[in-house]
Amino acid sequence: MTTEKRSLYSQLPAIDRLLRDSAFLSLLDVWGHTRVVDLLRQMLEEARQAIRESQTLPGWCENWGQEARARLVEAARGALRPVINLTGTVLHTNLGRALQAEEAIAAVAQAMRSPVTLEYALEDAGRGHRDRALAALLCRLTGAEDACIVNNNAAAVLLMLAATASGKEVVVSRGELVEIGGAFRIPDVMRQAGCVLHEVGATNRTHLKDYRQAVNDNTGLLMKVHTSNYSIEGFTSAVDEAELAALGQELGVPVVSDLGSGSLIDLSQYGLPKEPMPQALIAAGVSLVSFSGDKLLGGPQAGIIVGKKALIDRLQSHPLKRALRADKMTLAALEATLRLYLHPEALAERLPTLRLLVRDEAEIAAQARRMQAALTGRYEAEFAIDVQPCLSQIGSGSLPVDRLPSAALTFTPRDGRGSRLEALAARWRALPVPVIGRIYDGRLWLDLRCLEDENRFLEMMLR
Ligand SMILES: *Cc1c(COP(=O)(O)O)cnc(C)c1O
Repeated sequence: MTTEKRSLYSQLPAIDRLLRDSAFLSLLDVWGHTRVVDLLRQMLEEARQAIRESQTLPGWCENWGQEARARLVEAARGALRPVINLTGTVLHTNLGRALQAEEAIAAVAQAMRSPVTLEYALEDAGRGHRDRALAALLCRLTGAEDACIVNNNAAAVLLMLAATASGKEVVVSRGELVEIGGAFRIPDVMRQAGCVLHEVGATNRTHLKDYRQAVNDNTGLLMKVHTSNYSIEGFTSAVDEAELAALGQELGVPVVSDLGSGSLIDLSQYGLPKEPMPQALIAAGVSLVSFSGDKLLGGPQAGIIVGKKALIDRLQSHPLKRALRADKMTLAALEATLRLYLHPEALAERLPTLRLLVRDEAEIAAQARRMQAALTGRYEAEFAIDVQPCLSQIGSGSLPVDRLPSAALTFTPRDGRGSRLEALAARWRALPVPVIGRIYDGRLWLDLRCLEDENRFLEMMLR
């Protein structure tokens, strides 16, 4: 060994000496002996390797305490990191869809801390049903006879099909054989549920007589699927749920509808595009309607099925229901969210999804101008910062064509190099609370529709 190497090795501290250092006493307090010693062994090994391979000590060897603290903090960060969603998509599936109302958050915390009457009836100390409280609320809100809650809407569709039409034909329009994303395609789900798909009509046009002609002795269901994530325009025709429900009643075949998002309130009252309402389908006589908990409803991930009591009973007693049932946290959040709908006047304030969707373009633009002024000093050398009109999306396949006028801060590299945009986006993703924007048309766009805590954001960006 060279004398150089030997002298580098001799500079490596011994673990027990480090542990007596005051910087390490507080680390031991917080993280415990086992974890700190494991880390120090690993750091020593890294330092020895650096000496072996490049005859240098890593820079951090000047301050072992600081490096160890940084590594412990980094390793303790959970995988679900909070981020700031400035993508312009309000219900962003990859970022966890709906933000929960404070009432839902409190209900979940309580259900986590304390035993709860999940399947327990206080009246007689007997066994209760976990969907009971929610079913009562959902009946009140939708006019349905009964309800069933599962893990998500994909599960709801699977359960509806498996429990009511296994081994039978399900009649669906060719224009509604949609893929919702990933592996969820209606024909595949049909097969998994043991149903035989009976396609009718054409991609752009399906008529009531197509359904009528398809019905035979082995028909189990007539099904409608809301084409949430695409739209067909031009020479089109589809049979609406009311007509189909009437046909189903005439022929004695249940009609089910997968609404995807749906909305329990008429969104047009807020100037938003109208989305089909489950209560309208129930009133029209549809037997079962399913929709998501974390799309426009603004609650937790869940699949909600409302409809006729006899059919809901079949879903509740099917073995798949046990596999797909929702847990107490989901049920707590969903109940608290649905309760907000009993006070519709306050909904646009209390339900974060709606609060963000109804934000006015002018208000967002004013926010953008305030922030432009605050951020200019920091970024103007490299980027031109502008306030630009833009269009937000609702997201999660809801209302795919409709866009909401909004405002963005845009960052354009002064030297026109696209690599600067990637670098800036990466820098923001590395912030303590990562900021997610969108690169488009030679700029980095921050759509401010979903930015409610402007001051905390600015503080972080200017740090
Ligand atoms: C979103 C959607 C689903 C899936 O719902 P999840 O709650 O995400 O499982 C199913 N069908 C339609 C029409 C949808 O839009």
